[in-house]
Amino acid sequence: MNYISTRGAAPALSFTDTMLTGLARDGGLYVPETVPTMSAADIAALAGQSYEEIAFRVMRPFLGGTIPDDDFRGIIDRAYAGFDHPARAPLVQLAPNHFLLELFHGPTLAFKDFAMQLIGQLFQYELKRRDARVTIVGATSGDTGSAAIEAFKGLDNVDVFILFPHGRVSEVQRRQMTTPSESNVHALALDGHFDDCQARLKDMFNDFDFRDEVGLAGVNSINWARVLAQVVYYFSSAVSLGAPHRAVSFTVPTGNFGDIFAGYIAKKMGLPIDKLVIATNQNDILHRCLTTGGYKMSDVHPSISPSMDIQVSSNFERALFDAYDRDGKAVAQLMDELKAGGFTVSQGALDMLQATFASGRVSEEETLQTITQQRKTSGELLCPHSAVGVHVAEAHLGATPMITLATAHPAKFPDAVEKASGERPGLPPRMADLYERPERVTRVANDLTTLEALIRERRTN
Ligand SMILES: *Cc1c(COP(=O)(O)O)cnc(C)c1O
Repeated sequence: MNYISTRGAAPALSFTDTMLTGLARDGGLYVPETVPTMSAADIAALAGQSYEEIAFRVMRPFLGGTIPDDDFRGIIDRAYAGFDHPARAPLVQLAPNHFLLELFHGPTLAFKDFAMQLIGQLFQYELKRRDARVTIVGATSGDTGSAAIEAFKGLDNVDVFILFPHGRVSEVQRRQMTTPSESNVHALALDGHFDDCQARLKDMFNDFDFRDEVGLAGVNSINWARVLAQVVYYFSSAVSLGAPHRAVSFTVPTGNFGDIFAGYIAKKMGLPIDKLVIATNQNDILHRCLTTGGYKMSDVHPSISPSMDIQVSSNFERALFDAYDRDGKAVAQLMDELKAGGFTVSQGALDMLQATFASGRVSEEETLQTITQQRKTSGELLCPHSAVGVHVAEAHLGATPMITLATAHPAKFPDAVEKASGERPGLPPRMADLYERPERVTRVANDLTTLEALIRERRTN
């Protein structure tokens, strides 16, 4: 079981090398050479198993024997021990044939914990085994950074530096990044926008001397191990609604296309998924592409569902690779065109994408209305991202059960939720003192030399 690049010009790697490498050297994203399948009997046998056991059975074939079974079980157990719901990803019912998959019971209250907690443990395991150290640097608009810090804090062999735009993340998000006291955690407030954070991160990866000197590693959403971790809850939820004997559909609030791509992998593995519905906010490049074939960049319009405010959707490249019959050259060509503003998907590729995905776009007003209305009808208090999903899902309800992914806890976005519902959602008890904990953060200029000097000096290696 090896991994190949979507641009066809980087060496194939094992699972653990793929995880430590992140982005392929040709600029592409790693995907499995072949996707392993599970038979109907294998899937039926998941019924009644714990989340951890399902995780083990679903992910194991992707490891290609790189990690012994007992070790992998230990990694999974440690990854999900910090979740505060015994089901890890519980399903609640919103309406006849409409279910909500609550993915916000992890340490930072967003679904990114599912992937980040697992790769924290995987990195720790693999780096110890190789007697290696890395410096993880990430850029965040909020949720990724807090999930990464929570996953890597206190681990040996790793320093974690997170760049976030000063003054432009929510208070809960900022505090989740600045209050951990472990010495290997470094929260950096950059004078600039999220795009500046991402640009400086890219500059660091392109500074090969610096990259090698500090052992730079990335854990952004293109890391294959993160996608893999997310495949698991598609299985656990579908099985609890009767798969493989009954098909289900999913609606996924989407930004970088990582979460919904995991659903696509679950389907390829044999899980009977009828529809996979992409839900976007007003930043709707994916919805436009699915309906017109044109993938054209436009400006980011800040919304009340900020974790989906993206201009380009990096993991979409993985879907394009399959839509173009795994032709790496064709994908590389599209990505060159994207640098100049956009591209048009071929008719054949568009047919494949439309056969696999449906899509919908939700306005700010509709998002707020959905929060208001769900509070009344089902009692569920939705975060704005989850509300985008629920709104789009409602247009796709039918005889097949629909599962909408709830990607964050409402308390992470209290202002929008209060505006829609009149209620200010409280933090779960284990975090109730978040607003009292001391913060530790370094404000930095938007300047590569300054940043690199700071990282050299601060890392505990
Ligand atoms: C990251 C995030 C998303 C988008 O997920 P992608 O995998 O980038 O599509 C949606 N909602 C929340 C709350 C998020 O943090």
